[in-house]
Amino acid sequence: MSTARNTKIVPCGSLVDERLKVWYNIHNQRNTRRVLSITKNKQKHNRKVMRIATAIIVITVIAIVLFAAFWILKPSAANPMAIASDSPLANFFASASDANRSVFGLGTEKLASAPAQLGTELTVEYLDVGQADCTIITIDGHTMVIDGGNNKDGSDIVTHLKGAGVDEIDYIVATHGHADHIGGLDDVLNAFDVSAVVMPATKCDTVTYNDFETAVYLENCDVIEPDEGSTYTLGPAVWTIVACDKEAQDLNAQSTVIQMSYGDADFIFMGDAENDALDYIDKTYDIRCDCLKVGHHGSADAVNSRFLRNNNVRSAIISCGIDNDYGHPAESTLSTLQKCDVLELDTASCGTIRAVSDGYNISYITSTAETHSS
Ligand SMILES: [Zn+2]
Repeated sequence: MSTARNTKIVPCGSLVDERLKVWYNIHNQRNTRRVLSITKNKQKHNRKVMRIATAIIVITVIAIVLFAAFWILKPSAANPMAIASDSPLANFFASASDANRSVFGLGTEKLASAPAQLGTELTVEYLDVGQADCTIITIDGHTMVIDGGNNKDGSDIVTHLKGAGVDEIDYIVATHGHADHIGGLDDVLNAFDVSAVVMPATKCDTVTYNDFETAVYLENCDVIEPDEGSTYTLGPAVWTIVACDKEAQDLNAQSTVIQMSYGDADFIFMGDAENDALDYIDKTYDIRCDCLKVGHHGSADAVNSRFLRNNNVRSAIISCGIDNDYGHPAESTLSTLQKCDVLELDTASCGTIRAVSDGYNISYITSTAETHSS
C-alpha cells in the first residue's frame, strides 16, 4: 500500500512530547545564535563609529595645535612670545615680509615669487635709437625688451642683443602701438626665441602694427594683455604693471607703465605716459622710484615735482633724438628735474645709457664713458 505524499504520521503519547522538546531546543538554539549574531554586528558597528569619532577628534586637536603654534611663533613687536630673531622660522617670516615691501610696500597679494636673491647684477640699457624708445633689461641670464624703436632700428637692436650674448628673450613689452615704440620689434621677434609679449592696450591700424602683430603670431609665444597690478619675475627681479589706462583717449596715455625692483633698486619705465599716469601711480601705490625713464621723450607734461619728491626719484633718463622736431626734452621738464635735484641723462647727449645695479646702488655709464652714481 502506497503512502500519499501529504500523509502525516502523527505519533502519540510520550513520543510527541519528546519530539516537541527536540524541536524547541533546536529552535531556541537558532534564536540564541541569531541574537548573538545581531549583538556582534551591533558591537562591530559601534566600534567603527568610535574609531571614526576618535580620528575626527585627533585631527581637530592637531589642527588647533598647529594653528596656535603658527600664531604664537609668528614674530611681531606686540607678541611677547616671538621666537628668536635669528632662528630659521624668524628668517622665513622676515624674508616674506621683505618680499612684500620690495614690490608695492603695501597691497602685495599679487606677488608671485620668492624675494630677490642678490649676488648678481641688473643691467638696464637705454639704447640710443633717436626720437624713439628701446630699453633692454638683463639679469642672471634673463632678458626683457621694453619697446623696439622705429622700423629702421630693428637690425641695430638685434645686433646689440646678440653682441650682449642674448639668445632668448623672456619678455617683450610693447608699451603702446606707436611706430617709434614697436617699429623694430618684428625684427627682434624674428631673430630670437621669445617667451612672452605684453601687447599694447589698443591695436593700431598701421602697417607697422600689422608687421609687429604678424611677428608675434608667427613666434607662437605667450601673449599677455596688459593688466594693471599684475606682477611677474625676471630671474631674481620682480616687475609690476603700475599703470595702463585703457580708457584714455590718447594712445600715449594708454602706455603700459612698469616698475622693476631688484633688491633696493627700483626703476620705472613710462613708455609715453605723462603726468596723469604719474599722479595715478602716486595715489595708488606706495612705491619707490630710484630711476625714472621719463615718459614721452621728456615732453613738457612728462614730470612733476610732487611725484619726484614723494617717490625720492634720484635719476631720470630721457630717450630722444638730437634736434628732434618736437623740441624734446622740454625746457620746463629739465628745469623741474634740476629743481628736484634729479640727475638727468638723455640719449641725445649721452648716446646709449647703461644703468647697473647690485641691488643696493645704481651706477650709470654713458656711451661717452662718463660714469655717474646714485
Ligand atoms: Zn614715443
